[in-house]
Amino acid sequence: MSEMRFDTYYAYDDLTRHLHALAAKRPDLVSVESIGASYENRNIWCATVTNSATGPADEKPAFWIDGNIHATEVSASTACLYFLHKLITRYGIDEQITRCLDTRAFYIVPRLNPDGPELIFADNPRAVRSSVRPYPFDEEPIEGLRPTDIDGNGRVLSMRIPDPLGVWKEHADDPRVMVRRDADEVGGRYFRLLPEGLIENYDGVTLTVQHSKEGLDLNRNYPIEWRTEGEQHGAGPFPTSEPEVRAAVEFITSHPNITGGVAFHTFSGVLLRPYGTHADDTLPAEDLWTFQAIGAKGKAITGYPDISVFHDFKYHPKEVITGVFDDWLYDHLGVYAWTVEIWSPQRQAGITEYKYIDWFREHPDADELTLMKWNDEKLGGKGWVAWQPFDHPQLGPLEIGGWDNRHCFRNPPPEFLEKEVALFPEWLLWQALISPRLTLHSFEATPLSEGVWRLRLVVDNEGWLPTYVTKKALERKACRGVIAELELPEGAALQTGKTRTDLGQLEGRAYQSAAGFGWVADTTSHRAKAEWVVTGVAGQTLRVKARHDRAGVVRAEVVLA
Ligand SMILES: [Zn+2]
Repeated sequence: MSEMRFDTYYAYDDLTRHLHALAAKRPDLVSVESIGASYENRNIWCATVTNSATGPADEKPAFWIDGNIHATEVSASTACLYFLHKLITRYGIDEQITRCLDTRAFYIVPRLNPDGPELIFADNPRAVRSSVRPYPFDEEPIEGLRPTDIDGNGRVLSMRIPDPLGVWKEHADDPRVMVRRDADEVGGRYFRLLPEGLIENYDGVTLTVQHSKEGLDLNRNYPIEWRTEGEQHGAGPFPTSEPEVRAAVEFITSHPNITGGVAFHTFSGVLLRPYGTHADDTLPAEDLWTFQAIGAKGKAITGYPDISVFHDFKYHPKEVITGVFDDWLYDHLGVYAWTVEIWSPQRQAGITEYKYIDWFREHPDADELTLMKWNDEKLGGKGWVAWQPFDHPQLGPLEIGGWDNRHCFRNPPPEFLEKEVALFPEWLLWQALISPRLTLHSFEATPLSEGVWRLRLVVDNEGWLPTYVTKKALERKACRGVIAELELPEGAALQTGKTRTDLGQLEGRAYQSAAGFGWVADTTSHRAKAEWVVTGVAGQTLRVKARHDRAGVVRAEVVLA
């Protein structure tokens, strides 16, 4: 089959083929498995990436990455595939990638919701929010405008209807640009804008737009502050009710070595962090500082601002969103989690000082001119389609055209795709490399008297983060300390100590103050020691294993002498 490309979007079958082809290329680095089946029974693929020669993935700290939980956000899948491809093709060449796969693992789910995007790739494309499962009712809507391609050009654009009460008028400097008329303005040429489509049971006067019967939003179905349909639309009948979310939650909770995660979405060009529901001062200070440090690194690498959802990314200032991936991962499991919104058309166009979601509610007309200029100069005019007269069977003569959302807003246009998804690998690698990691300092046997030895095991956390990762994890009792286990051969016996012992948590360097004077004292809080006294026979080999759910496993052996 042809090589995977990053200037195109893949439907499920092609994505599946490319994923398996990558794994076949480097079976020593990648394995692909299904972590569950979607509503329409498609496999949800997960690629486990690590150098298997240095140990299995589940004995290493790991990082979770998923994409495309929202149906139309297909560049999220590309971001995952691009990263995976880069890991495989640059292993052994790139120092950071090599070190990362030798010491850490990635679990990458390029398309967590395999059903919804299929509608985008259909001949007559249709957009649903997330899953294709009908919710809350399994019946077709019977009235209202159904968005669909009615002029047969393969795109669902806008309809422009002349209307003296219309909201919109042509901009004086560029008639292609539609802007709102002034509050007290009358006497001009005004228009009503609607999605391209046909109206079911039109009464001749009332215009409504249908909600699709696929009303679920899978990123409201995570088991964190989940709310009912009356409080939040599309969250499903109960937390993890949907097979795609259930698969992710089961995989993540059964892989306690996961120390962080990123879910890719579109669009806005921002790095979003928890909480969506609570102010920053509700986080433990150390966790907030660490989130800010990870975000600052992300901003430096990607150019995307790092922001709190609660403070800077609300659809309405009085409303919050609950049941989302990153809040769940942080609040319940106590690891650092992010939602990355790929692609900012505004920033591409040169509008740099703007407030993400708030921009849609209010922005200067000048921004619209700037976007049109971007279309002309950078998109080769492909983002905006000239208004074409169309005789609508219900609404009469109108025009179809305007911005092609699917081409330029929702995801990067194909020719911009690779450049955009290439922004993320360095930050993803950095986030994996800051994890805690257990290393062996020493394991020694010292003879005390005839047939009696003292054993001493010393292990370190060489990672930047502490073994527990977050203060939230301690609060939630999400992980225990380093467990040391001594294996005694036949003929050896324990005199003091326990065969399995909890050595507690090991600190990292993450909370180290910037001033190297004053109160500085670099203690060995990253180190733990276990001691045993054993009786045995000279020449016997004693083995020890130290493990921490989040920091990995080390093994050592010593010969009694
Ligand atoms: Zn999304």
